[in-house]
Amino acid sequence: MAVHSLANAKPLSQSAARRDAAHFIDGVFTQGSTGRSWQNFCPVDGSLIGTVPEGGRAEVDAAVAAAHAALDGEWGRMTVVQRTDMLAAVADGINARFNDFLEAECLDTGKPMSLASHIDIPRGAANFKMFTDVAKTIATECFQTPTPDGTGALNYALRRPRGVIAVISPWNLPLLLMTWKVGPALALGNTVVVKPSEETPLTATLLGEVMNAVGVPKGVYNVVHGFGPESAGEFLTQHPKVNGITFTGETRTGEAIMRQAAHGIRPVSFELGGKNPAIVFADADLDKAIEGTMRSAFSNCGQVCLGTERVYVERPVFDAFVARLKAGAEALRLGRPEDPATGIGPLVSQEHRTKVLSYYRKAVEEGATVVTGGGVPKMPAELEGGAWVEPTIWIGASDDAAIVNEEIFGPCCHIRPFDTEEEAIRLANSTPYGLAAAVWTENLSRAHRVAARMEVGICWVNSWFLRDLRTAFGGAKASGIGREGGVHSLEFYTEISNVCVKL
Ligand code: NAD
Repeated sequence: MAVHSLANAKPLSQSAARRDAAHFIDGVFTQGSTGRSWQNFCPVDGSLIGTVPEGGRAEVDAAVAAAHAALDGEWGRMTVVQRTDMLAAVADGINARFNDFLEAECLDTGKPMSLASHIDIPRGAANFKMFTDVAKTIATECFQTPTPDGTGALNYALRRPRGVIAVISPWNLPLLLMTWKVGPALALGNTVVVKPSEETPLTATLLGEVMNAVGVPKGVYNVVHGFGPESAGEFLTQHPKVNGITFTGETRTGEAIMRQAAHGIRPVSFELGGKNPAIVFADADLDKAIEGTMRSAFSNCGQVCLGTERVYVERPVFDAFVARLKAGAEALRLGRPEDPATGIGPLVSQEHRTKVLSYYRKAVEEGATVVTGGGVPKMPAELEGGAWVEPTIWIGASDDAAIVNEEIFGPCCHIRPFDTEEEAIRLANSTPYGLAAAVWTENLSRAHRVAARMEVGICWVNSWFLRDLRTAFGGAKASGIGREGGVHSLEFYTEISNVCVKL
């Protein structure tokens, strides 16, 4: 992978040009026919980025029809090698326009360029190469079946693309999480209609330019912008000709989409919310545990589904852990995306800030002690219009407090002491969510023992966010349905059929 230097990135503050988004339907950029649009604001300083057209039923119909036509056309006839070569070219195409993607993503989200340049954009591109091997090496089963007449039968399985996949994606890692679904969907021969988050429309739109530039047939990748309820999101997930729905977002939204998917019995793949615990044992390497928890609680301004919002620390090291995490949080530098010294950006929007600040207030009302943060930071005048909040740590909340049980999705965590391994496991598993956990210990047996009892889709030991994309990714309990990643993506993105041949 090419190494991209931030020195080449144009400072966002100098990119004065308006960026209006457009739908991308059947290979063509369009504003659609609803006449409705909204304004897209940059969360760094509240400045206007541009407008975004709101898609209606007509745009969704057109995109779904184009996606079906592509399945029946050139795309559907391509060999897996032709298809995956084309997707590798898409990955190269994203990397060739790395700084355009980087700038668009940082404008929409406000996240530091230092973060997006080594996570969001390179991994977003890599998602188009990652599933190439899986697609090329699909293995299926074959049984020789005895029959009463003695001639027997052969039963074998075929996997074919599921069809038109609706991709509903969130705003926290817009390109990365969207391509995490579009990559395998296309590699396995499907076509897609993407409804990006209304907060972050730019990179999905830009990807349309790359698709056209590398010659991906029209209708294979479509984008319709809009909101959820009574807008493009609902229309797309209700559409009878959509063959499957893959969604990343809040658990409550997942419930709504599941109801919409019930019309016509469409399968769903859901990556939902979390309230992820970390358990720090007294025998942990505290340097590693602090470094990992700093990232898991505060990176991307706490807007990572896998992030830690509950930390359980064994009593002998509790005070030291709290003091060191406090010092780390207070050393984080809030700032503009293009400043290499920036450690943390703003939240994604004013609306989300209102939600996060409501939890900051609730924490105090519910009796938690604020160790650090808890409010709005004093920012320079030119950034005062941004969605800034302070990195925040609490202790002393009760186990049933809202901040201990509900997903906040901000740069914050609650730290609570524990005395026994059993207690830590019980506390870690005590919410309806089951996305991720982190266990910090140098005791090998304990690490395996505790990891096995975490009711989650992924449990890290002495690390966080270390991902091998061949592994099964998803959530347990209220954090998801199904698994994606590596061969596990076959389950959702292909349909298996059994062929029975009487010999
Ligand atoms: P969200 O649920 O508010 O929105 C996600 C998407 O769903 C958006 O595109 C939105 O327009 C759309 N949507 C909303 N209502 C809809 C409806 N009724 N029908 C169809 N589409 C609808 O989530 P968000 O705020 O964008 O993202 C943050 C959430 O995502 C957090 O809960 C976070 O934990 C979760 N998340 C989970 C994972 C994971 O892998 N499990 C990854 C990232 C984010």
